[in-house]
Amino acid sequence: MDDRIFKTAMSKFATGVTVITTEVNGEVHGMTANAFMSISLDPKLIVVSVANKAKMKQLIDESGTFSVSLLSNNQQEMSNYFAGQIKENFDISFKTFDGLSVIDGALANITCDVHNTHLEGDHTLYIGKVRDILLQEEGMPLTYFSGRYYNLS
Ligand code: FAD
Repeated sequence: MDDRIFKTAMSKFATGVTVITTEVNGEVHGMTANAFMSISLDPKLIVVSVANKAKMKQLIDESGTFSVSLLSNNQQEMSNYFAGQIKENFDISFKTFDGLSVIDGALANITCDVHNTHLEGDHTLYIGKVRDILLQEEGMPLTYFSGRYYNLS
């Protein structure tokens, strides 16, 4: 099958947008990801899918922890930035929650320990055991569909 057909079909599944963060030797690294899913209530587990070629893979393997920040609809620039689509360097100030770095102003920040990993094709699935959650009362999500951002409100 043609890669383009596969990618186009998958892009028809509307999602939210997250930024995954992890920290190694005091340096925080962030990456935009929409391959995020909740998988279990007891125990509380989530999964993110990270390309094997992404810097993030090596860093999560090293740190054994990561956070997922669910972006709000005013954080599109943040998504572009952590997807490597904005070339100038920003000095991002991360918020510390549960001892980990997270994106300030997100709808929710989820801190995790790596519970399991599955190497599947050109991506690795990181199963995160949820340590803590910081919820924002208000706000609407940044959404992504067919390669474009949408605003639910
Ligand atoms: P880089 O490309 O080096 O880092 C990303 C960017 O963040 C760079 O510009 C870097 O300078 C900057 N940055 C990182 N940390 C900091 C910091 N501490 N301070 C300042 N700047 C920093 N890929 C997946 O593997 N899985 C997905 O589910 C996924 N979903 C995506 C969804 C969307 C909507 C988009 C747009 C992209 C998605 N991608 C996904 C692609 C992924 O975001 C990019 O390929 C990304 O560039 C890979 O990141 P990297 O870890 O290789 O690091």
